[in-house]
Amino acid sequence: MTSQELDAFEEPAEIEEKPGPDGLRVILDRALCIGAAECVAAAPMVFRLDAQRRATLLDPARADPRAIWRAARSCPADAIMLENQDGEPLYP
Ligand code: SF4
Repeated sequence: MTSQELDAFEEPAEIEEKPGPDGLRVILDRALCIGAAECVAAAPMVFRLDAQRRATLLDPARADPRAIWRAARSCPADAIMLENQDGEPLYP
């Protein structure tokens, strides 16, 4: 099998990225999400589950940064990543 044929089997990346408070950038990899909903419990202004029970980003910019950090740390799939405004990783 060629590498092009293998690529056809891979799930497309489903990255959502939005600015959060204080220069924080919130990145959600929906392909990793297993629908555990810890993020929704920690930061309901920022995350919700869609009809497929996968997380999607709402409005991180007006959220409490502590809630965003709690959500990222509570995700069992490490689907939530945080960066600073220069694109440097802060979490995980
Ligand atoms: S906590 Fe992680 S796995 Fe659970 S819904 Fe949120 S992003 Fe998905």
